[in-house]
Amino acid sequence: MANVMLITGASRGIGAATALLAAERGYRVAINYRREREAAEALVARIRAAGGSAQAFAADVANEDEVLRLFRELDETFGRLDVLVNNAGILERQMRLEEMDTSRLLRVFAVNVTGTFLCCREAIKRMTHRHGGSGGSIVNVSSMASRLGSPNEYIDYAAAKGAVDSMTIGLAKEVAGDGIRVNAVRPGLIKTEIHASGGEPGRVERLQSAIPLGRGGEAEEVARAILFLASDESSYCTGSFIDVSGGR
Ligand code: NAP
Repeated sequence: MANVMLITGASRGIGAATALLAAERGYRVAINYRREREAAEALVARIRAAGGSAQAFAADVANEDEVLRLFRELDETFGRLDVLVNNAGILERQMRLEEMDTSRLLRVFAVNVTGTFLCCREAIKRMTHRHGGSGGSIVNVSSMASRLGSPNEYIDYAAAKGAVDSMTIGLAKEVAGDGIRVNAVRPGLIKTEIHASGGEPGRVERLQSAIPLGRGGEAEEVARAILFLASDESSYCTGSFIDVSGGR
């Protein structure tokens, strides 16, 4: 049977582009979403209409019970997991650090960091040789923000992605002998709806003149890097990062 890829936060943006490309390349795709059921089901229908295999699963990755349920449903539906793409991520309204309250910090870290940890934990229990699995691959969707820091916009988000980078390095070493590779992509300015949640839908256009390649990126360009890291094409890469940022 074809390999199974779980992509978190795949109802739109980079996650949805990754789901479409993964299905095209023959993966059976598990599309996780939090709220956007209609968008997730429309994506499933599009993949199936093209001859691919996909199913949608609701879960908030920041909620442990929901993550446990998500993986139980995956077990029941597919009986295996080969690739986990930790794509679900949020940022909040642009502001300086001195304005940030605790509830915002907890939300940003819960989704971007805790959610990634919880999904890795459950995936590892299914994929590692030590747990009877046949190995696999994890791709974390970090951000160039982890390197650039996002001053005056969202240092909390940048720091959360910095945590994702550190866990990518540590986990890659921890499970390397267990048949799992762990890598990450660091997208730059990609044209998705995430910028609207920061309060600036036109952020990519405002900043694109500062991008060496002279334009914002497309979600599909990130998806191609994710698929490379997920597949055996990158068989000697673990703890590696691909910056998909137009040189920024
Ligand atoms: P997006 O268009 O805002 O999509 C985010 C997706 O994540 C949505 O499907 C959203 O679904 C889902 N999501 C959010 N919180 C979730 C949760 N708690 N549990 C499950 N799903 C959740 O964002 P995007 O630009 O495609 O971003 C995807 C990833 O790339 C994120 O990790 C982001 O940090 C990273 N990234 C993006 C850029 C960029 O410029 N676009 C740059 C660097 C890194 P709901 O709406 O249903 O919650």
